[in-house]
Amino acid sequence: MTDHSARLAIIGTGITGIATAYYLCTVHGFKDILLIDAGQPMAFTSAQSGENYRNWWPHPAMVQFTNRSIDLIEEIAVASNDRINMTRRGYALTSRASNVEDLIKQLHEGLGDTAERLLRFHNNETAAEYEPATSPDWREAPDGVDILQNKALIRKSFPSYDKEIESVIHIRRGGDISGQQMGMYMLEAIKACGGSRLTGAVENISHTSDYKLELSTKDGSMNVQAEKVLNAAGPFADTIASMLGVELPVYNTFQQKIAFEDKRNAIPREMPFSIDLDVQHIDWSDEDRNLLMEEPDYKWLTGEMPGSIHCRPDGGDNGSWVKLGWAYNESPQAATRVLPLDEQFPDIVLRGAARLNPALKDYYGQLPRNMHHYGGWYTMTKENWPLIGELGPSGAYVNAAMSGFGTMAACAAGELCAATIAGAKLPDYARYFSLARYDDRELMQTLYESNKGVL
Ligand SMILES: Cc1cc2nc3c(=O)[nH]c(=O)nc-3n(C[C@H](O)[C@H](O)[C@H](O)COP(=O)(O)OP(=O)(O)OC[C@H]3O[C@@H](n4cnc5c(N)ncnc54)[C@H](O)[C@@H]3O)c2cc1C
Repeated sequence: MTDHSARLAIIGTGITGIATAYYLCTVHGFKDILLIDAGQPMAFTSAQSGENYRNWWPHPAMVQFTNRSIDLIEEIAVASNDRINMTRRGYALTSRASNVEDLIKQLHEGLGDTAERLLRFHNNETAAEYEPATSPDWREAPDGVDILQNKALIRKSFPSYDKEIESVIHIRRGGDISGQQMGMYMLEAIKACGGSRLTGAVENISHTSDYKLELSTKDGSMNVQAEKVLNAAGPFADTIASMLGVELPVYNTFQQKIAFEDKRNAIPREMPFSIDLDVQHIDWSDEDRNLLMEEPDYKWLTGEMPGSIHCRPDGGDNGSWVKLGWAYNESPQAATRVLPLDEQFPDIVLRGAARLNPALKDYYGQLPRNMHHYGGWYTMTKENWPLIGELGPSGAYVNAAMSGFGTMAACAAGELCAATIAGAKLPDYARYFSLARYDDRELMQTLYESNKGVL
């Protein structure tokens, strides 16, 4: 017996599934969409996002894809009268090294022909041309990338940074949004088009001419019949794919963040999203270091830690919170619904972040009690590119593997997946993000070689 039927069933009501439904409704006129989720919309990985965006990537396909996504986010910011609180103070990549040629080469690769126009170097002679990010307004921010290698200019523009910083690469098309508000805005549009939602866990899928989904809900089992099915199940995309007889090349790593009220004003409100690129040894007290050395499970915390710890003010110029994150965990784990938060993480990330912003040391041993410690799964392919397009069986699609970029990529991923489902014209980058990319061995080899970690 069928309890519900729909033209398209979307499994997963996180930002990826929602954005796909949004573009199907608003661009392709789909009305009969059923969004299915075991929990509430935007409540799993999408609730854990740092909500940052940037167009900085080492490969031109990802640059085009995220630029398109940011264009679409800006459209939503305008159409919703900035309900999504979009800001744009950029991403500041910092290093104590004066030679950052590798990064500049990577920027050239990502920007291609436009690099000449978009990269601005500020050494002693041209320092005056650098425009600091005084306003949070995305409409007023410059494009391109400023490369600062003048210590006096760095000191003046980023007074809270470690005095040893020699290079700052300021990516200007970057900032943050409220991903939750964007999801809610899209859900309202989907509802207005006739789309609906169902709360239940998909347990099994069978395929004859249509798809039949078996769900468990709080009221017992339920069946859904659909012409087409989209797998947007985030960290469980591999489980849903296996129900359709497909093995997805994805894995999950668990990543954490903290947010707390910066009552001591350690972080200037106008500081961009700042990343310390350098490896480091965490600044433990001698006593803590000795204790950690004795614990086989924690000894690694006394060794060399990777770079890419990040920090930003949260809640706008009049707010007082800050967010810190460090995606150092590279161990694949099976995703679980109960999240394995590590109680040591707040201390680890605070001490790591204090290297770039030494005023954070004031919080050692005294993080505010209302600190928020959270985390979620980065669902990734080995090359750290998303999977968007046909899944294999006719009428089945995937939009997943959004790693640490699913909020910023949601609009372009949703638009691309919607166009695939609707049989519309696809953008040039479509082939890079579909499963078909694995047939291009040369491309895959290049990607495996150039993938240098995640944020
Ligand atoms: C700590 C952290 C920080 C991040 N920071 C950023 C950032 O700053 N910027 C950025 O762009 N991205 C960031 N991300 C990444 C971003 O949050 C994710 O890529 C994005 O939220 C993934 O969305 P999704 O819809 O694919 O997955 P989810 O939000 O997990 O949605 C998938 C949904 O599928 C449902 N589901 C799964 N299996 C079933 C089933 N069998 N039946 C029914 N429902 C099912 C789940 O309940 C879930 O609601 C961060 C991620 C983490 C973990």
